[in-house]
Amino acid sequence: AALTPAEEAMVERRRRALGPAYRLFYEHPVHVVRGEGVFLYDADGRAYLDAYNNVASLGHCHPRVVEAMARQAAAVSTNTRYLNDLVLDYAERLLATFPAEIGHVMFTCTGSEANDLAIRLARVVTGGTGLIVTENAYHGVTAAAAEISPSLGPGVDLGPHVRTVPAPDGFRGAGDVGAAFAAAVEAAAADLSRHGIRPAALIVDTVFSSDGVFPDPPGFLAGAVAAIRAAGGLFVADEVQPGFGRLGAGMWGFARHGVVPDLVSLGKPMGNGYPVAGLAMRPELVAEFGRKARYFNTFGGNTVAAATAAAVLDVIEDEGLIANARDVGTYFTDGLRALAARHAALADVRGAGLFVGVEVVSDRDGRTSDAAAAGRIVNRMREAGVLISATGPRANVLKIRPPLVFRRAHADLFLDRLDAVMAGLGTG
Ligand code: PMP
Repeated sequence: AALTPAEEAMVERRRRALGPAYRLFYEHPVHVVRGEGVFLYDADGRAYLDAYNNVASLGHCHPRVVEAMARQAAAVSTNTRYLNDLVLDYAERLLATFPAEIGHVMFTCTGSEANDLAIRLARVVTGGTGLIVTENAYHGVTAAAAEISPSLGPGVDLGPHVRTVPAPDGFRGAGDVGAAFAAAVEAAAADLSRHGIRPAALIVDTVFSSDGVFPDPPGFLAGAVAAIRAAGGLFVADEVQPGFGRLGAGMWGFARHGVVPDLVSLGKPMGNGYPVAGLAMRPELVAEFGRKARYFNTFGGNTVAAATAAAVLDVIEDEGLIANARDVGTYFTDGLRALAARHAALADVRGAGLFVGVEVVSDRDGRTSDAAAAGRIVNRMREAGVLISATGPRANVLKIRPPLVFRRAHADLFLDRLDAVMAGLGTG
């Protein structure tokens, strides 16, 4: 359907007020006015099944989170330079979800700031400057985080101390994914050293979202972590996307791989929509930094952020959302695989919990990626009232991340719509 005159006018206002660097989702953008649970509603009251927005991980506007946020906003909103129980209670509770080695957490407002701080810390701790990331990684918008975000494209330069390694792509790669990934990290570290650059860190999103979603086999990260440590660098787990239970196996993506990171960046679902993020760490790593530097983030860890983030943990526990992510995730990926068996364009379904990637190809035997078809599927799903997106270096992997309150009935609705969209595309 074409944009209405009112929508055309809004697009034009955006262009004038916000400038040229912003992008909208979908050929026909969605004019969102309200969210509740797994649904977003547009200005005409039409409901969309939101299978993409992983910030509102507990469902949009979860009443317990909204209530905690509003109550604290009415009590006091202030920063970490005052004594206040809320941030301490939250920090202790959050740290209890990590392995014992992780003993401090510092608060920021965004995942980008968490990664920026991780880079600073890794450089102080190791005395090195070199950073290793995957070829289509995204780690954020600050100057330092953008330099380790090759997915921003060739218009954004990687830092001179940055090396990239191929993602652990079990769909295209042959053989042992973990061994290949470890060898690539080892080679990147050696290349840094050969150029007189000491490695400071390997930073990866533990589900490799922007690289195309690569969760399997669990454990494959261990070799790469050993390789960066052998080269004198730290391992930074970027949990901004996989964290807080989304993978349906405990709280953290790194744990599926049996590794304990040095630094862990957190964000997106941490406040279910309130901007709260942070960096968890091994205490010994920050001792020197703490002597030399101080850290103050005006809004990071403010009292409203702490109260909101605590309510998020309550809901994850009380509603059993990690188990739901696991159970409904399995049901959903099974359903997607059944669809893929009937629609040749859907070549590979992979996922953990409620983080799913579906590889779209034009030629299943040759594994020829088909970004155009993926784009058509995303846009036709939107017309059908289901919101997803596409990712990966070839933009051909459907990225599906519904809220953790996604139930079997929502999965059935999604599968029905995708089946109809695929039939309409005539891909078999
Ligand atoms: N790391 C990863 C893996 C992300 O996906 C993102 C955001 N898309 C970030 C970091 C940056 O987070 P933020 O947008 O909150 O700065």
